Amino acid sequence: MSILIKNIVIGKEVKDLLIEGHLIKKIGYNIFASAEKIIDGSGKIAFPGFFNTHTHAAMTLLRGYSDDLPVLQWLQEKIWPFEAKLTEEDVYIGTKLACLEMIKTGTVFFNDMYWHFDGIVRAVTEMGIRAVVNSVVIDFNNPDNFKQQVPRILEEYEKSKDFPDTIQYAIGAHSIYVVSEYALGWIADFAQKHDITLHIHLSETEHEVDECMKFRNMRPVEYLDSTGFLENNVISAHSIWLDDHEIEILKKHKTTIAHIPTSNMKLSSGIFQYKKFTDYMEHVTIGTDGCASNNNLDMGEEMKFASCKAKMESKDPTMMDAETALKIATENGANAFGINGGKIEEGKLADLVLVNLNHHLMIPAHHHISNYVYSANSSVIDTTICNGKILMEDRTVPGEIEILKEAKDCIKNLLQK
Ligand SMILES: [Zn+2]
Repeated sequence: MSILIKNIVIGKEVKDLLIEGHLIKKIGYNIFASAEKIIDGSGKIAFPGFFNTHTHAAMTLLRGYSDDLPVLQWLQEKIWPFEAKLTEEDVYIGTKLACLEMIKTGTVFFNDMYWHFDGIVRAVTEMGIRAVVNSVVIDFNNPDNFKQQVPRILEEYEKSKDFPDTIQYAIGAHSIYVVSEYALGWIADFAQKHDITLHIHLSETEHEVDECMKFRNMRPVEYLDSTGFLENNVISAHSIWLDDHEIEILKKHKTTIAHIPTSNMKLSSGIFQYKKFTDYMEHVTIGTDGCASNNNLDMGEEMKFASCKAKMESKDPTMMDAETALKIATENGANAFGINGGKIEEGKLADLVLVNLNHHLMIPAHHHISNYVYSANSSVIDTTICNGKILMEDRTVPGEIEILKEAKDCIKNLLQK
């Protein structure tokens, strides 16, 4: 498919943008080319779509189910019992609801750690968004439990060889406190052999550090490093409770940080030390976490909170300026997964949003990026394009009403179980 967007603001100039197939083919003044679809970009600006580097998409089904509790009580009494009821079909429906929300809020990619692999792949393929689907590992520190999971992991890895270009495979080891040392070592070796990205929650709470010191006499990053896990391309979600030595280890391995401001605030986990990562900014990305702890998947909101938290933590209002926040939420996420996107440039993947400059939150236009990061909410996003396909136009996503109905029916059934 080819799309020609006429008279759109790109940077500070009004230009035309031609998409052919999956790519931005040309950006220039007065492009005359025949295209299957022509969009009038007048009064709009193009920004790269968001890359959400850590979430649990199908947890949309738990949005608002339980809030305002201490973390362990919240997990053990509310979240885990509810999740135990979920079938593959439920996860498929919950993931579609998540994709709908992501498309409506300008996200073109998400890295998903959740059960029911096949249901997720089906939802993502239908919705046309980019994703990383993880083989999830939790063995509650029992290597025998892990050994029973190995055939499933191998089977999912084999299935990933047939994924379309828009879907990647990763292994999501939940965390050092529910994955055994044996499993972490196995995963590290397997990933090394097959060039697989790894994904883990790391140093999210102070309790995690205390327990690791008690049982391993090492801090979490030191322990994880001792298993060989960090030798791979790793996405480390949260990464809050780090000392200087641990930060050094993460930087040495070029580990990607998935910074997750809202969930950290809502669960009172702690504050990411962005100031210590300014020289490593290229490897800092943003995730939303799941809807049980956020409670939405709005990367624009997350981008604003990331910047505001960086300023608050460092006591320095110049920290993570608007341009940097936008880069962290887009280009850095694409780079972390080796995706040729996250930038509006010729030759890059056509993953972009068109933002309405006549929306009250974008006026006056002193600084478009400042408005987008600090003032806007997702209602300014008019069109979302991923991989050269229009997923939302005039704020409408095809099939939206059906997806909402399916989700409501699904919850009704789950609550009766
Ligand atoms: Zn998470």
